[in-house]
Amino acid sequence: MASLVPCPHCGARPKEEFTIRGAALARPRADAEPAAWMDYVYLRDNPRGRYEEHWHHTAGCRRWLVVTRDTATHEIAASRDASLDTVGVKRTEGARS
Ligand SMILES: [Zn+2]
Repeated sequence: MASLVPCPHCGARPKEEFTIRGAALARPRADAEPAAWMDYVYLRDNPRGRYEEHWHHTAGCRRWLVVTRDTATHEIAASRDASLDTVGVKRTEGARS
């Protein structure tokens, strides 16, 4: 099974070129309650199915991407440049709201 990641800038590239940061979560507002920041910084879901993560194309274009990956099969369904997310990233199905 090939492990290629579709970079929107470079095309399909080997996963070894990327560094995974983790869940692509919407950042709370600066004046949000401490509980919202606690959740954002420390708490993570462990969903089965599609999940959005931040991936850095370290050995390529050096852009941050939002990669939609299935946590059960590791299949990558989509990717986009993270800088295009202006409002924040929505959690995928099954994730905590
Ligand atoms: Zn790239």
